[in-house]
Amino acid sequence: ARAALEGPWGQITVAERVDLLYGVANEINRRFEDFLSAEVADTGKPRSLARHLDIPRGAANFKIFADVVKNVPTEFFEMATPDGRGALNYAIRRPVGVVAVVCPWNLPLLLMTWKVGPALACGNAVVVKPSEETPQTATLLGEVMNAVGIPRGVYNVVHGFGPGSAGEFLTTHPGVNAITFTGETRTGAAIMRAAADGARPVSLEMGGKNPAIVFADADLDAAAAGMIFGNFRNAGQACGATSRLIVEERAAKPLLERIVALLQRMRIGDPLSQDTDLGPLISAGQRAAVLGFLREAEGQLLCGGEAVPGDGYYVQPTVVAGVDPQSRLWRDEVFGPVLAARSFPDGDEAEALRLANDSPFGLTASVYTGDSARGLRLSRRLQAGTVWLGDAYTQPVEGIWGGYKHSGIGRELGPHGLLDFLEVKQIYSDGIGGARKPHYAQVLGA
Ligand code: NAD
Repeated sequence: ARAALEGPWGQITVAERVDLLYGVANEINRRFEDFLSAEVADTGKPRSLARHLDIPRGAANFKIFADVVKNVPTEFFEMATPDGRGALNYAIRRPVGVVAVVCPWNLPLLLMTWKVGPALACGNAVVVKPSEETPQTATLLGEVMNAVGIPRGVYNVVHGFGPGSAGEFLTTHPGVNAITFTGETRTGAAIMRAAADGARPVSLEMGGKNPAIVFADADLDAAAAGMIFGNFRNAGQACGATSRLIVEERAAKPLLERIVALLQRMRIGDPLSQDTDLGPLISAGQRAAVLGFLREAEGQLLCGGEAVPGDGYYVQPTVVAGVDPQSRLWRDEVFGPVLAARSFPDGDEAEALRLANDSPFGLTASVYTGDSARGLRLSRRLQAGTVWLGDAYTQPVEGIWGGYKHSGIGRELGPHGLLDFLEVKQIYSDGIGGARKPHYAQVLGA
């Protein structure tokens, strides 16, 4: 990676980089079926989901960041000098250097490329460490890079585990200039400690336990559909999933009935079948962890609660109501198809907000209400990087992504997504032409 930065990659123009990144996007699309099969085989997610989400977004991440980088604004300011000539200061952006990219298993290509896309658009070289659970699409992307002529060494992949293996070796390596990570909060903390050695910058996208507040004046059909879309896609293995439902007392029964009815229509099955809505979890370990939450859960089990008998690591879509706000099920990230619900007293907006914000995490939040002033009021006070009004888990790639509190440090996507990958440099020039007497010497009377 270092050698690549010192080679032609370090000299090419933004326009040339943009062309290459468009080429990467087009080549992913040309090999769409290869990426699709690899992602489904690694994750077990429904093919229909990866077809509409993971792979097209993986390609789009290169196009979008190529477009964003063409339009990075810069700053100028003039200053007066005692000799009256004046001076000009301006900012330029330079790559940070070698970037370590450490990724999770839930959306392997999509989340990896929304880091690699901007890192390369800004002229860096990357070393990617995909999750040990989902190695294939990172390797396929290497083939794409070679095919379109990205110079050798610009995109590198190391496979392996985390602690005591590739992840730790990479993030403690002194040749790495910056680290970008998506994964669990405790892993992020370990990576931040590793980055302290050498004072290297980190950006962290981590866990979530995201609230949806639903008021009785909301369209309850839309809210129920939003909870299914927001919490059960990808079998609930999503950081931004709306996994805590906070519903106004008098709307609780009709809303929960609607949610359970929709879940009963969900088709659980073979990820390769077109009709499957809910696939298995990533691993036996993940299923055991999710079932552990369900075994100790108190409250009212409205549906699910068990593994699906037979092959595969399936868990039934589950709703538990009346969940204790101090319980693990309410506070910790389950990362499975499980919705924890509780109600708040009718009309008590302050209590709904308190329950929502009483969490170590702060990635996303949703509000469903027919009163737009109330929606806007709450959106300003919810401690979350994204708030959806009347919606859940809709994430435009041109937007902004990141979390408060234990959910992360920094923001990804859009122009914000470039900031982790750029050094900003100020250049001072006090005139064009040969050396002149420095004005500070005049000030000092020299
Ligand atoms: P994880 O933290 O277990 O692993 C993520 C990556 O870190 C893997 O590649 C792993 O090998 C590596 N790793 C583990 N320990 C390491 C160490 N000590 N040093 C360096 N690397 C190490 O996370 P996961 O189980 O793969 O993914 C699920 C988690 O990711 C969930 O908590 C989820 O909320 C989070 N996530 C967050 C976002 C977001 O945008 N905020 C998106 C997706 C997933």
